Amino acid sequence: MAASKDRQAHPDTVLAHAGLDPHGNHGVVNPPVYHASTILKPSLAEWEAAEKPGYAGYSYGRSGTPTTRAFEAAVSQLYGVENAVAISSGLGAVALALLGLTKSGDHVLVSDSVYYPCRRICNTILKDFGVATTYFDPLIGDGIAELIRPETTLICTESPGSLTFEVSDIPAITAAAKTRGVKVMIDNTWATGLYYNPFRHGVDVVVEAATKYIAGHSDVMMGVALANDPVLGGRLRAVANNLGYSAAPDDVYLALRGLRTMSVRLARQQETGLEIAHWLEKRPEVARMLHPALAGDPGHAIWKRDFTGACGLFAMVLHPVPHEAVAAFIDGLRYFGLGASWGGYESLIMPADPRRIRTATRWEDAGPLLRLHVGLEDPGDLIADLEDGFRRLHAALA
Ligand SMILES: *Cc1c(COP(=O)(O)O)cnc(C)c1O
Repeated sequence: MAASKDRQAHPDTVLAHAGLDPHGNHGVVNPPVYHASTILKPSLAEWEAAEKPGYAGYSYGRSGTPTTRAFEAAVSQLYGVENAVAISSGLGAVALALLGLTKSGDHVLVSDSVYYPCRRICNTILKDFGVATTYFDPLIGDGIAELIRPETTLICTESPGSLTFEVSDIPAITAAAKTRGVKVMIDNTWATGLYYNPFRHGVDVVVEAATKYIAGHSDVMMGVALANDPVLGGRLRAVANNLGYSAAPDDVYLALRGLRTMSVRLARQQETGLEIAHWLEKRPEVARMLHPALAGDPGHAIWKRDFTGACGLFAMVLHPVPHEAVAAFIDGLRYFGLGASWGGYESLIMPADPRRIRTATRWEDAGPLLRLHVGLEDPGDLIADLEDGFRRLHAALA
């Protein structure tokens, strides 16, 4: 479909065309949903070929179908790499990377701001299998070098952290890792491949919860793990196959369909999110905003240097108020649903307490943290909804 072989397609064009093969399927634009367990071979020779390492065809539903490969091809093209593995959830993708890049006796460094269930994997499964974890300050930068031990094999990051939004200096971290032979993985769910390409900053493995912006409609669980190098890609694939991790055909289809419109959704959610964040920033109830695209945010300079956009997920820290006042704010909201997850078309709000999670750093803010996900609604309606919330908050204080 490329108009000219020399011209590098814009990511929006990649999103519209990657992974398509209409003429392999009667001209139908989208790849069909293959429901499969058994996949038959026409001859003994083909059967034997399928048993050889590196076989590129289809052998069994669990290890993927043409629907799975279309999704993987599309996401990997967005990131400009060749190795992607689709898996049944974002957390599954995190697990693939952690298990694929460590072995007994290894030491891993994990950012204190990572998605909480990633810590659970480190603190239970990895620990039980003899892999030690040290948590580090997400703002550590090249100071990471001092934490690297001879047995350190992996640095696990998420930037910005999807609860507290610190932006890590990934190029500084990967530079320190590279000279010591340490691999770096990142959870890139916040920025997606559209607004941040970690492979250009020295990262080895990227994971994304496709549940969020890729699928985009709050109806799919899906993850993807990507590697810049075929050996690492093979390790991710091997862990998925060995553990029996698989991605369901309808979900892969929906995730690929979501990917087609991700750019327009993200652009709108970025714009509305910023409008709301600017409005919140001026509210007397708000102690500070956690949003890297705001000029006053501590992570703004690095965000501006490394990222090309921001999604609709950010947080606000309120001045200390009694719990009933927070409940009054949240409970009457019309458009902000109270729920975990994010990346869908609808707005969400969620309270969180980083003090209960952190171990390498201290969370100093005294007031409650509320995380907001801004959907595709009209910004004026969302602001009015929040304004009513603040009115209820004050009424509860009276
Ligand atoms: C949601 C999320 C995950 C996990 O994805 P699931 O599909 O819910 O398993 C991983 N990382 C981040 C940053 C997330 O927000």
